[in-house]
Amino acid sequence: MDKIIMQNPIVEMDGDEMTRILWQQIKDELLSPFVALNTEYYDLGLKHRDETDDQVTVDAALATKRLGVAVKCATITPNAQRVEEYNLKKMWKSPNGTIRAILDGTVFRAPIIAKNIEPAVRFWKKPITIARHAYGDVYKSVELPAPGPGRAELTFTGEDGTTLSTVVHDFKGPGLLQGMHNTDSSIRAFAHSCFRFALETNQDLWFCAKDTISKTYDQTFKLTFEAIYNEDYKAAFEEKGLTYFYTLIDDAVARVIRSEGGFIWALKNYDGDVMSDMVSTAFGSLAMMTSVLVSPEGVYEYEAAHGTVTRHYYRYLKGEETSTNPVATIFAWTGALAKRGELDGNQALTDFAKLLEKACIDTVEAGQVTGDLAALIGPTATKLTSLQFLRAIRARVEAAIA
Ligand code: NAP
Ligand code: MG
Repeated sequence: MDKIIMQNPIVEMDGDEMTRILWQQIKDELLSPFVALNTEYYDLGLKHRDETDDQVTVDAALATKRLGVAVKCATITPNAQRVEEYNLKKMWKSPNGTIRAILDGTVFRAPIIAKNIEPAVRFWKKPITIARHAYGDVYKSVELPAPGPGRAELTFTGEDGTTLSTVVHDFKGPGLLQGMHNTDSSIRAFAHSCFRFALETNQDLWFCAKDTISKTYDQTFKLTFEAIYNEDYKAAFEEKGLTYFYTLIDDAVARVIRSEGGFIWALKNYDGDVMSDMVSTAFGSLAMMTSVLVSPEGVYEYEAAHGTVTRHYYRYLKGEETSTNPVATIFAWTGALAKRGELDGNQALTDFAKLLEKACIDTVEAGQVTGDLAALIGPTATKLTSLQFLRAIRARVEAAIA
């Protein structure tokens, strides 16, 4: 068989530990035999980040802007223990944080559905995609303890010296204070990414906040979404028969539980943090979850939602065959290849990506799974090592192509 040609490269960001091992196995077993892979390779493994003073992460993000599509392996975000373990020059920042700061935008996460993995919520039939705003609010807040009685105020001083001020609270005794912010440009970028992603994936978009209580902050999010929808996306949504709708966060939670799924749920940063863990757990497993960062200019970075699976890696280093689930990492690759195919008008590449995704799901639905899913499925499952699982998928891909 002739390998599928890629006219244009994608950015390939290699990573750490168990996912780095899976990365190579996925390329060897499922990609290189079928596709003449065309990638611009960046090694974001911790050792190489340290050697390059983390310049490689910045270079990879800039390359993503240039080429439009990237696939990223999970990476270690170093803490004190990692600084010692890898003898690092310093405690480098989270690569995802660095990449997001350069690309901006929104992280979309959706469960990968298999029939034999029942969602905990029995109404859910289709995936629910979480769109989490990835900037500001409590993640960039400042805090103070109020040591005792006194007045707390919030003040803005403009560059021209004019001030705006309001009283936060007149304390009668000790208490707490928190100040947070967001920017109009980041909220607008968030809204654009959500509307675009909804159109591209043909799904309704829900957005929720608490504007009844937060009459300036959350109200601005609500009005920004509304204005951008009316101005730029309403016609396209109506043409496709899609809806955009806003509701309060508490109402949204109740509706989501009663829904069938099959929509995008856009959430502010903190709400997105909390709800994405709830939704992913209720659907089954982090290893069965896709994740893509979409920038406001329409640049795409695909990754797995889980980390580097350190505990399995230490077992692998001792010579054990592990049963680590590669599905999310495979879907990061198929997401990127399908997007490249779509942008380049390369139907063969997009079709291959879809075929590989189907082969993964068929394998899982046949009960041939890794340990995490075997535990969810129960006694009908056959537990495979990662490599056995990849080879079972490969057999399906080969059969489908033949
Ligand atoms: P993790 O790598 O997601 O693993 C946590 C646990 O979840 C694992 O020990 C394993 O449970 C289970 N698990 C996760 N992915 C799995 C898979 N594909 N197959 C089977 N089981 C899986 O999180 P962590 O241990 O907290 O973090 C490890 C490293 O990853 C850290 O250095 C962190 O900085 C990094 N991290 C990176 C990213 C990213 O790059 N996007 C995200 C999160 C964390 P059992 O051990 O019980 O089998
Ligand atoms: Mg979280």
